[in-house]
This record gives sequence, C-alpha cells and structure tokens, in this order.
Amino acid sequence: MSSATGQSTQGSQDDIPSAYPPPPEFAENAVAKADLYDEAEQDRLAYWAKEARRLQWDTDFTDTLDWTDAPFAKWFVGGKLNVAANCVDRHVDAGNGDRVAIHWVGEPGDTRDITYSDLLTEVSRAANYFTSLGLVAGDRVAVYMPMVPEAIVTILACARLGLPHSVVFAGFSAGALRSRVDDAEAKLVVTTDGQFRRGQPAPLKEAVDSALGTGDDAAKSVEKVLVVRRTGHDPDLTWVEGRDVWWHETVANESDSHAYESFDAEHPLFLLYTSGTTGKPKGILHTSGGYLTQVSSTFHNVFDHRPESDVFWCGADIGWVTGHSYLVYGPLSNGATEIIYEGTPNSPNEHRHFEIIEKYGVTTYYIAPTLIRTFMKWGREIPDAHDLSSLRLLGSVGEPINPEAWRWYREVLGANSAPIVDTWWQTETGGMMVSPLPGVTATKPGSAMKPLPGISAKIVDDDANEVAQGEQGYLVIDKPWPAMLRGIWRDNDRYKETYWSRFAAQGWYFAGDGARYDSDGALWVLGRIDDVMNISGHRISTSEVESALVNHHGVAEAAVIGAADETTGQGIVAFVILRGSTVDTGDALIKELKDQVSKDISPIAKPREIYVVPELPKTRSGKIMRRLLKDVAEGRELGDTSTLVDPTVFENIRKKK
Ligand code: ATP
Ligand code: MG
Repeated sequence: MSSATGQSTQGSQDDIPSAYPPPPEFAENAVAKADLYDEAEQDRLAYWAKEARRLQWDTDFTDTLDWTDAPFAKWFVGGKLNVAANCVDRHVDAGNGDRVAIHWVGEPGDTRDITYSDLLTEVSRAANYFTSLGLVAGDRVAVYMPMVPEAIVTILACARLGLPHSVVFAGFSAGALRSRVDDAEAKLVVTTDGQFRRGQPAPLKEAVDSALGTGDDAAKSVEKVLVVRRTGHDPDLTWVEGRDVWWHETVANESDSHAYESFDAEHPLFLLYTSGTTGKPKGILHTSGGYLTQVSSTFHNVFDHRPESDVFWCGADIGWVTGHSYLVYGPLSNGATEIIYEGTPNSPNEHRHFEIIEKYGVTTYYIAPTLIRTFMKWGREIPDAHDLSSLRLLGSVGEPINPEAWRWYREVLGANSAPIVDTWWQTETGGMMVSPLPGVTATKPGSAMKPLPGISAKIVDDDANEVAQGEQGYLVIDKPWPAMLRGIWRDNDRYKETYWSRFAAQGWYFAGDGARYDSDGALWVLGRIDDVMNISGHRISTSEVESALVNHHGVAEAAVIGAADETTGQGIVAFVILRGSTVDTGDALIKELKDQVSKDISPIAKPREIYVVPELPKTRSGKIMRRLLKDVAEGRELGDTSTLVDPTVFENIRKKK
C-alpha cells in the first residue's frame, strides 16, 4: 500500500480553486468552532463526557470509558437513559411539543406533518401494544418497511422498551429477510401490506410470508407479524390467523400514555446487517449511551444545527446505517425538523427532490454521491427550475465523492457558497468519524479532510507506521470511540478477526478502507483496499480512475475494476454512464475518455477497456458492486446478488459488453 502513485485528479485544472473556505458569515456564527479540536485533543474522554451530558441521563455515569476488556468497550459506565425519551419526550417536556419533527412526503403525493407531541402519542401506543404481546427488554424485533412514519414509530417504540431492532431494507428479497430474522431470532416482524415504488404499488407482505414459511419450514422465533396498511391494493393479501395483525386494529387502539424505563448505557439498541459488498452480511451490534452521544453530537456540530430554523433532509433509507444515525437518532435527539420522503427521486419525475426542498425550505441536505451523479446525468436545468436558496449546507456520505460531482453539487445546489461536509464513516463506526466542520474547515473537493474532534484516526503502512504526506495506506482508528460497534451478533471471534486482527499488536481498529494524505495533510479516502488495483506493480485506486472519467464533461457516472491481465497483473476495465445530453460517438468517445485518465492520473492508469452502459449494479445504499462487475469482466458466473437493488441490470451490461 505504501508505494503510492501519489497523484490525484485534484488540481489538474489550474483555474479552479483547490480549497473552499467557509463563507465568513457562516464561520462567524458556526455552532462548532475550531476550539473543539483543541478541547478534544487536551482530554478526549472529558470531551466525550461533556458531549454525553447534552443528553438526558436518568442516572449519571460514573466512568467515561472502560476499555479493560478490549476490543469490547463500555462507554459511560453506570449511566442509565432511555434513548426514545431522549428523542421524543424530552422535547415535549421542554415545551417544544408543537414543533414539527417530521414532514413526511409519500410517493403518491400524500403528506403528513408530525409534531413531537404526535410522535410521543404514536410511540407510546406502539410501546403499549408491544408490551401487550409479551415482549420484554432484550427481545429482538425485525422491521421490514418502506419509508412510512410507522417505521420511525416502530424503531422508537423498540428503543423505548429496550427491544433491539433489526431493520431490513424493504427492497431486499425474502431470502435476505429470512436469514436476518433467523440470525437475530426475532419474535416480532413489523411490515406493510405493500409499498409504492416508482409510482406503482407493489406487494411487500408477500415477501414476509414467503420468508417466514409455514409448517416445518416456518421461522421458529417469530410469534407475530404486525402489518401497517399502506397501499391497500393487494387483492391476494394472505393472512396467517393467529400470527398476523393489522396495525390500525391493534396499535391504534392502545393508550397514548406510556411510562418509560431507563436502561443501562450498554443496553443493546439495534442490530444492523452490513450491506454485504464484502461477503456474508454481519449483524453489527450497537448499544445505547455511546451511540446516541456520538450521533447526537456529530449531528449538532457537522450539520451546524439550529432546531428553531433548520429543516434537515437526509435522503437515506432507514434500511442502512445513515438512516439509523442521521434520519432517526441524530436529528430527533436534537429536536430537529426533518423531511422523510417515501419514494424514488424520479417519481413522478426528476423534479421531485427539488420541489420538496423548495416547498419545505430545506436548509441542510445530506445524500450519497451516486445521487449527485444521477442529478448531473439528468442535467442542471432540472434543479435550476427551482428556488433552492434555502439550502445553506450540503452533505455527502457513502462513497468517495468525485471532485467533479463535489463542484457541481456546490455550484448548482449550493449557489456557489454552501459548505459541503463529506462525511466518512461506516455501519461499524455508528456515527461520523472523518469530516470537515462546516464553519471551520477550508474544504477540498473529494477529501473528507480530517478526523472529527474526539476521534483519533490515521493512515499507516503495513508496519503500522504513519505514512508521509502524499502517500497512501490503511485507514485505522487507534482509539475507541463512543458509537463504535460492540461486536458482531453472537460471533465474538468474527468480530475480533474482522476488525482487530490486522493491527492486533497495536490494538487498532482497521476499517477496511485505504486512504492517503495529500501534500497539506488532508485525508482522502480511496475506498476499500480490495478496490485498489495493481497495474504493473503500481497501486491505483478505482475511485481515482472513476473521478478522472467523471471529470470528462460527457460522463455522469463510472465504475472501475481491475480484471486479471496476463501481462500487467490487472487491467483496468471501466463501465460508464453518460450524461443526458451526451452523444455517444463510439470509438471517438472511448479514446477521449482514455486520454482523460491518462492526462489526469498517468498513462499507467489508462483503462484497457471502457464500456458505455445504461446502468450500474448498486446495493440498496447506492454503492457500486464492483465485485460483480469483476465477475462480468472476467467472464465468470455472478457471485451473491441478493443485496442488489435490481439484479436485472446485468442483462443490460452484458448486452453492451
Ligand atoms: P460491507 O461492509 O458489507 O461491505 P459497506 O461497507 O458498503 O458494506 P457501510 O458500512 O454502509 O457498508 O459503508 C461504509 C463504507 O462506505 C466505508 O468503509 C467506505 O468504504 C465507504 N464510505 C462511506 N462514506 C464515505 C466517504 N465520505 N468517503 C469515502 N468512502 C466512504
Ligand atoms: Mg463495510
């Protein structure tokens, strides 16, 4: 890893700035100022203890961190709290019950505004019903739901009762649901009759029925299936007597008052299975006090949050970690007003997101680079047709963001002034780890810049030495952090092996990602180390080649892999999607693209083959499944496609190839 090519696409065009300081007014009024870094530097644990006390503890903690049983951490030892009360009751008690917590927008156009008082009523009802089913703290609940308000209510009711939830993305197959239900031994499954996808109602409960099976095949742990009526359209809806119940016939009739209990800071809050871009899904375990502390604190600081005036929108689905941390727990623990949108960005047309931003005056918008590139592909006339002047801060998460997409995002959505926070973190880290502070950092397009206050991360070589500026290596976290995973569900050995064995002697967490420092010491995440290619002995990251391709005005999106090559070890194969306005000139375009990479990075990085394709295979969270493209490029049978959003994309790619 340490023999970096040392070049980047950034700075290849001399006339554009390489760093963007925050607007002076933003900096002056920022929630988080530069002194946070010094404070955390001086005493990291005191910093986190202070951040923890932004929450409401029913019993104060006595110790900030117990790391004696490393790598199994205990944060805020002896403290007790209720996570749901922190997200709901606390704001009502403070007199903010009338504040809108959620502006919900359904795909067909129906809307609901839910205040903190409304949320308290609904969560209390659900908690009362779950209790009446005999569920007790520690029992697991599977949540297989689209983005409807009841999904948030279910999650919060689980938290209120100390029932660890396991949210399974509603786009996953019955098989994926079954393996997760079995692994967690869930007693209750909460779902909907159907969901709206791209303007059409589609069944969902059907998948639950097929997942849970019948007779000898039945999922043993499941006692009840609670069904929210969302589409009401499925004429063939099947019902298992004794097992299935409607939400509107049960939860809705419960009392709206519920007295909560407080739980230990280390009480399990949820399980979340990773998306599986790197193998069999792992049930990542998160607990209460440390997790909530970090997601709440980072939401406040990184999103420069003002509860009275901000309208926050995180575009993630609740089925992945960003939905947990920055759609449920982070915003609600801060008393935020947020948007929850049920559907896809192009239902009924490509204006949807921009109409929502305009209508609700969204101030803070947090999405994945894949969506930004999709917007670029559609063309800027779409956002330009709307008043987006309410946007004052933009965020990115999930993948390295290509500099070209970063600049487009800032210019077109951010009116050339909104700071961009590129936030690096993982399901395992629970909350943001490396990111700019929007009022402090002069940001560079494509760089996540540096670890947040209280987080200690660095880039090291094979021998655990920190790499020099301009070099690349492994991104490690060398000190425990509050929202860190507490393990893999019932598999301590896999936990140690997966995350703590590479740098066992040092006791560091290795995240699986490669990164590099630039000549100013800013941190650039290069994606997972498996995505670093070896071309004639040169280490080249897929993300750098992708950025170079996207830097071409005709390309909206690119996926790059290293395919086995007899002469060079690996040969670079690229798949590109063109922007809406681009004319495919065939070989001429391919040559231009190859030259672009050659110029931006080096002739060594020039792709061996480039294919123009209509779509790319993506996971539910919008990540490109490179290992599957590798299968295609090397002419193999496809590996596990169960976590793909749309497995049929391969037919289109194969046709092109
Ligand atoms: P699996 O672990 O099952 O392969 P996954 O890693 O895709 O799935 P997540 O935990 O959602 O699941 O994603 C975390 C990964 O996403 C990081 O390890 C990193 O590779 C990438 N990532 C997230 N945010 C950023 C970012 N801002 N910049 C670069 N990469 C990012
Ligand atoms: Mg991962």
